[in-house]
Amino acid sequence: MKLTRNFCIIAHIDHGKSTLADRLIQACGGITQREFHDQMLDSMDIERERGITIKSNTVTLSYAAKDGQTYQLNLIDTPGHVDFSHEVRRSLMAAEGALMVVDASQGVEAQTVANLYLALEYDLELLPVINKIDLPAADVERVREEIDADLGLDPFIAIPVSAKTGQGIEDVLEGIVSHLPPPQGDPDAPLKALIFDAFFDKYRGVILQCRIVDGTLKPKDTIHFMHADRDFGVDELGYNQFKLVPKKQLTAGEVGYIVAGVKSVQDIEIGDTITLADRPTATPIPGYQPARQVVFSSVYPMSTDEYQDLTKALEKLAINDAALTYEKDSSAALGFGFRCGFLGLLHLDVIQERLQREFDIGLVISAPSVKYKLQLKDGSTIDIDNPSNWPDPSTIDAASEPYIRAQILTPEEYVGPVMELCRDHRSESQTMNYLSAGRVEVVSEMPLGEVLFDFYGKLKMITRGYGSFDYVPIEYRKTDIVKVDILVNREPVDALAYLVHREKSRARALHYCEQLAEEIPRHQFKIPIQGAIGGTVIARSTIQAVRKDVTAKCYGGDISRKKKLLEKQKKGKAKMKQFGSVTIPQKAFISVLRAE
Ligand code: GDP
Ligand code: MG
Repeated sequence: MKLTRNFCIIAHIDHGKSTLADRLIQACGGITQREFHDQMLDSMDIERERGITIKSNTVTLSYAAKDGQTYQLNLIDTPGHVDFSHEVRRSLMAAEGALMVVDASQGVEAQTVANLYLALEYDLELLPVINKIDLPAADVERVREEIDADLGLDPFIAIPVSAKTGQGIEDVLEGIVSHLPPPQGDPDAPLKALIFDAFFDKYRGVILQCRIVDGTLKPKDTIHFMHADRDFGVDELGYNQFKLVPKKQLTAGEVGYIVAGVKSVQDIEIGDTITLADRPTATPIPGYQPARQVVFSSVYPMSTDEYQDLTKALEKLAINDAALTYEKDSSAALGFGFRCGFLGLLHLDVIQERLQREFDIGLVISAPSVKYKLQLKDGSTIDIDNPSNWPDPSTIDAASEPYIRAQILTPEEYVGPVMELCRDHRSESQTMNYLSAGRVEVVSEMPLGEVLFDFYGKLKMITRGYGSFDYVPIEYRKTDIVKVDILVNREPVDALAYLVHREKSRARALHYCEQLAEEIPRHQFKIPIQGAIGGTVIARSTIQAVRKDVTAKCYGGDISRKKKLLEKQKKGKAKMKQFGSVTIPQKAFISVLRAE
């Protein structure tokens, strides 16, 4: 155990976490040059394209240190986005230490600080790494000051590196060995292991990633999931070394994989503690929290023929994504679909993109919503995340919505606009902390629902890309929510209905009406588009009629040409949806949801 180090890499997005991981893997000869491709740990296409890590991966490396000993380094990758902070927590729980990567040209940012708090919560030893020192804009001394002043860490142990050129990588490995503590634990105690991740493999079922805290686990043992209260037999266990390398046992302090006949990640709970069925530990590992869906949205296939495909695709995605929930939903306008729960907006984006890209399904997605808590006049309480379940307003006694503590880091000159942006998004309090080097931290308590729409893009715009943002959920607070219906040609399109604070209802309705008017093609008749609360219209726009007939230029004679043209039109309609007499293109649904 003395020769084991379990560590994570944490960083603000883009500061070089994945690139550093790649360099460490290469330096330890974890993989041959031929097998190597950049960003080894970012496995999904979307992750690689967007440069963000969504699903974390773990790898066991072997490092021959300068002290002559060979160490086992378990690099536990963490996802790099606020939506997945729940998964970051689980990874941190599996480690004793973390590399905290800070970009030498950007300095400390919101996620760096948020990650620091998380890491401290789990008592991790931290080793600061100043990355990208090859950049002309790198300012190592300034970043050292920030590490001292903003993070409260020892600036002198910070290691300057370039993950790009490889400069300083050896120092990082030595730093891990000398600065981060080895794991503790008793190999002879009853088994206590943390499941911090799980993957679905088509041939082997679910592959669990675990950290053994106490005890020893062997193949053929029967394991018991303490929170899920289920038993499974262990088929195989071992180390993750880009392939699964079977071992005879996993013991206290180690990180490895388990294959145990689990069919879907939905059958287990990540963060759960496993123990031995016939020699259980008395108490599970503390700090367990189930994944929390905070954003909800309905997903419908563009064409009803694709409903089966959508069902299968969601099943497939859920097998590997314990945080995705879905249940049947139906819309008068769009037919059958699913109501899905997501960890946040990025999670929604990723699922939507995968459905379209990997499964080639045309989708209509309703406006994302948070979960509101309603107190009804009859004394009951209900949770509502779907506008179609919104009760008659006269039956509602009080409503509350989830609030977050948002933490925004910005250069000083943009503080004014940032505060204004927060107030525009119904921030209830803003406090400022001056950090080093002309930067300010703005902490704002505001509704989660307000950052789902139009917040992040604006923040980036008003801070010229320098602002960064992170948040933690805090509590539910009283609110005044209304349901807004969108009527196209006087018919409500239920998939476009949304829940919003009364103050914001009109502005948003106007945006919807204008976008729809732009995206819905002209028809033979005039189409009114309205936003309404109950029977009261609060916003409207109109699409003027067009009389031109596309077949007119065929002079009526050439039937085959006319047919061809109609055929072509029909194809174009594949991405259109018929609502009564109005055709709405998929693009219209998408563009109303984009506020930018
Ligand atoms: P992550 O979001 O923290 O995982 O960051 P990535 O590892 O994906 O890196 C973000 C971007 O910074 C990529 O374009 C990398 O090529 C680049 N990058 C990472 N490390 C360095 C470095 O040391 N020097 C330079 N110049 N660029 C780097
Ligand atoms: Mg990354």
